[in-house]
Formats: sequence, C-alpha cells, structure tokens
Amino acid sequence: MKWPFLGFMIGASIISVAPVSGDNGSEQIRSMRFDAKSPGQARMWQEKARVKLYQLMMNGSKPEKCPANPRVINREEVADAGYVIEELELNSLPDRKVHAWIVTPGHVPEGGLPGVLALHGHSGTGEQIVRGEEIYWYGKAFAERGYVVASLDIGQHEIQHEGWSMMGERVWDALTVLDYMCDRPEVDESRVGTAGLSLGGESVMYVAALDERLKIAVSSGWLTTIENMKTGHCPCWNFPGLEEHFDFSDIFACVAPRYLITQIGRKEKAPGGFPLDIAQKAFKEIQKAYKVFNAEENCYLDVHDSGHEFIGEVPFKWFDRVLKK
Ligand SMILES: [Zn+2]
Repeated sequence: MKWPFLGFMIGASIISVAPVSGDNGSEQIRSMRFDAKSPGQARMWQEKARVKLYQLMMNGSKPEKCPANPRVINREEVADAGYVIEELELNSLPDRKVHAWIVTPGHVPEGGLPGVLALHGHSGTGEQIVRGEEIYWYGKAFAERGYVVASLDIGQHEIQHEGWSMMGERVWDALTVLDYMCDRPEVDESRVGTAGLSLGGESVMYVAALDERLKIAVSSGWLTTIENMKTGHCPCWNFPGLEEHFDFSDIFACVAPRYLITQIGRKEKAPGGFPLDIAQKAFKEIQKAYKVFNAEENCYLDVHDSGHEFIGEVPFKWFDRVLKK
C-alpha cells in the first residue's frame, strides 16, 4: 500500500493509544537512555546501543554481510551535467534484493571524491533522489556539487523476514548501499556522509548511528519523540522493544561526536507532524551526548521558515566543510 508523500501526516490517527504518561513515563521505560559522563563511557554506551538496535531491528543480531553481487540495470551518461547515473540491483541478504542508484561525476581527482548516501521519504524512490524530483531535489543537487550520490528504494510496508522490523530491513538495505558506494573506485571512503528528508531523515538517524564511516549526517523533517509519533503518523517507525529501550534522541546520541544536523521547519504540521517545540526538546537531549565529547559545535538544530522540506543552505555548507578537501 502506498502512503501519500507526507505519509507521516495522514491526518487521522491510525493507531490509538491510551493517553501516554508524558515525558516522565516515557523516560522511565528507556533502559538505554544516554547517561554517559565521559567520552570513554559514551563510546561504551554507543557500542551497547548499536548491539541493541541490531538485536531489536534485525532478528536478534547484526546480520552477516553477504556478497552484494551488484548488477547494472541501466547506465546513462548525462553529458550536460558531466556525470553518469547507474541503476543497480544488489543483494543485502542472500534472498533480498535492493534497487539502488549511483551518480558518479565524470572527472575523478586523485584521492577520489566524497560520497553521500541520500535517502527519500514515504512513497519516494531512489530514482527521484538521483534525478532531483519534487521534494527530493537534494540528491541531484549533491551530484551537481561534485559528490558521488548513492540512493535506494526504501521499502514500504512489506516485511520479508520473520523477526525483522520494516525499519530493520530498510536500514540494512541502506547500509548495503553504503558499503557499495564506499567500495566504488571513485569514492574516498574516509569522506562519506548521509542526508535525507522525513522517512529519509529517520533512516539517516539509524544508518549514522550504526555506521561510523559516516562523518556527517543531515536528518531533515524527522527529529521528534516516540510519544509524538504515536499520533497521526504511519506506524511503520515502530518495532517491538524500541520504546522500552530508546527515544530517538538516544539513537542520535550514537552519532556523537561526528557532525550532525537535524533540520525542522517552523511550518511543520503541528500537532500530528513534527512540531518545532518537540524537536527542540529532543535536540537538548542529543546535545548532552555532544557535551560529553566536548563537541557541542558538531551538532546543530537547523530551524528554517518552511514546512516539511529539505533546505540546502546549512547542510551543503557543512558537507563541503567536512568532506571536501
Ligand atoms: Zn509508513
């Protein structure tokens, strides 16, 4: 089933929940709440959190990587833009296929190019990202700025394997495409980041939390709390065990001290969408992790005047600063 592109905001609430106990109640059940007091403790906490996320999302533990066996479906030289778009299929599990895209600039300098894993939202596609269509204009924009851009179709509402969650399948697919991008000869794998809007911003949170190769992450139109997601949103964000262990700010805390931009528009739908005041509260929680690393300047809440949109100004500036030589 397809959700509208602002699928998180489908108006009527799909799941009804008893009035929740508020912040204090949620906090009591967060067994993995970030509470480290030193960089060493924080790194140990992050390792535990990653193990727990794999356990909850992907049937008990981090899956074994399988040969991706990439097959090129189509290759298109975009002469005007000076880059090549490839459509691919690869395996994220022996019996699971991922539909992916990669854009590679024609000129690759010595030392390779920086790369970005760019992710779409509900009902979007990897193709929209690389062609820069509609609200997913940022994928093409990264390519035009000289980045290798990889994307994929983030699956909708079909769980293939028992014990996995939908977010688990999506995130494992995205990590597979990240591996593929890092293995490409054009890419300097020490200079890769990720960016996405909405469900793409949610997926950015997970891939950046789980994979430390990502030096910078831009999560747009997503920063919120579990409590907020329980009303007026498609329920595909949820999986058993999530709220007993985490709120989203804890998952973002796994990104510290790497560069992180969370972006929210003042005109986000509220309630039911991604209200700014809730994002601000969640951001304060994330900041605690950056403070422990003495790296507060590495995370930023980018508030813009639009709605559920990716605004490029701050993300591109940070990406260029962090990833370009
Ligand atoms: Zn959904």
